[in-house]
Formats: sequence, C-alpha cells, structure tokens
Amino acid sequence: ATFSDFGLHPSILLAVAATGYTIPTPIQAQAIPIVMDGRDVMGAAQTGTGKTAAFTLPILHRLMQFASASASPARHPVRALILTPTRELADQVSDSVIEYSKSTPLRSAVVFGGVDIGPQRDALRRGCEVLIATPGRLLDHVEQKNVNLGQVGILVLDEADRMLDMGFLPDLDRIMRLLPAKRQGLLFSATFSNEIRKLGRTYLNNPAEIEV
Ligand code: AMP
Repeated sequence: ATFSDFGLHPSILLAVAATGYTIPTPIQAQAIPIVMDGRDVMGAAQTGTGKTAAFTLPILHRLMQFASASASPARHPVRALILTPTRELADQVSDSVIEYSKSTPLRSAVVFGGVDIGPQRDALRRGCEVLIATPGRLLDHVEQKNVNLGQVGILVLDEADRMLDMGFLPDLDRIMRLLPAKRQGLLFSATFSNEIRKLGRTYLNNPAEIEV
C-alpha cells in the first residue's frame, strides 16, 4: 500500500510526497482510514512508530472537508485540539502539523507552559484550526479568554499514559467540559492500563482499538 491509496486530500498528499515517505507504517495503515471515517480510536503505539502522522494526516484531511464547506473562510476557529504531556512533544507535533499542512490554508498554533504567554495569546487571537497544547497552559489561555474551544470537533490525547502519570487528569476533566459533546476522539498511549481504558470509556465513543 502507498499513501495515495487512502484518498487523502491532494494538498496533504503533496506534503507527504515532499517528506519522502513512501510506505505507511503499520499504525498509519490501520489508523488513517478509521480516522478519515470519523471514528474514535484508542491506539497503543510508542514514539517512533509514525503515530504523529497517523493522526495528523487524516485530521488535516477532515479539516479540509470542513474548510471547503465553510461559509466564512476569514474566520479560523479551533476545530482540532491535540493535547500532549510535555512542551517537547507539543513542539514535535506542531512541527509535523506545520509540515503536513503547508500546502493547505489551515493554520496551527502551539501553546505550553514555561515561556511567555504573550506571543501565544497573539497567535491564538489570530486564529488557528489546529491547536497543540499542554493542559495547564491551555486552561490559562481559556481563563484569559484567548481561545474558545466551543467548535472543537476533533480531540487527540497524545501519550495519554504520561499525561496521567504527570497528574493532568483534573486538567483533562476541566478541558473536556469545554468541548462539544459531539466530537471525534483519538487517544494514544504506550500501554493500555486500567486507568487508560477508563479514560477511553469516559472520553471516547465506541473507539476502534489499534495495537502495533
Ligand atoms: P513518530 O512516531 O510520529 O514520532 O514518528 C517517528 C519518525 O518516523 C518521524 O521522524 C517521522 O518523520 C518518521 N515517519 C513517519 N511516518 C513515516 C513513514 N511512513 N515512512 C518513513 N518515515 C516516517
């Protein structure tokens, strides 16, 4: 199989071609069609398996479907929210989103703690369809009314096991209450512990399980 077999939006295929990837990794082969269909996913995958592209490519594809139907192209509400446990992972995911969306009109922003909030606030106020964030700093921005999450249709919890280990469960619960109930949810974790399964039952809707 190749990336062109998925039926991804042409602007996204163009960006994939520019990376030089030819063969989808196992998690990409499994996850991309399911996410394109709008289903929820629980994915067991370590870093290095290609999991970032496995969720980013089909998310961008779905946002391009919304984009073409949008009545107000001038506005850029957050439609996909990607939560990560650390600023390092947020930065890596942001780099991937920038790379894979470079031939699209979609905008992204990344926010995490430990740095000035001002430039992040300015980026949020300019608008972005894809927001990558660590939980605590995201809630700071919500409190400051720098961002509204009322139009998020896709949620990703990346490295969910590490988010629980780092004590982010209360923050996650607060963030979930700010999102529309009708949304697509994707959860990735190195392992499926009882706690992770419980998180999946709480935040996801009938997820497909993927293990690689
Ligand atoms: P990740 O697991 O998302 O951190 O990705 C691990 C590395 O694999 C990254 O450096 C990606 O650029 C690379 N990668 C992702 N998908 C592919 C692919 N289909 N073929 C070759 N390299 C890939």
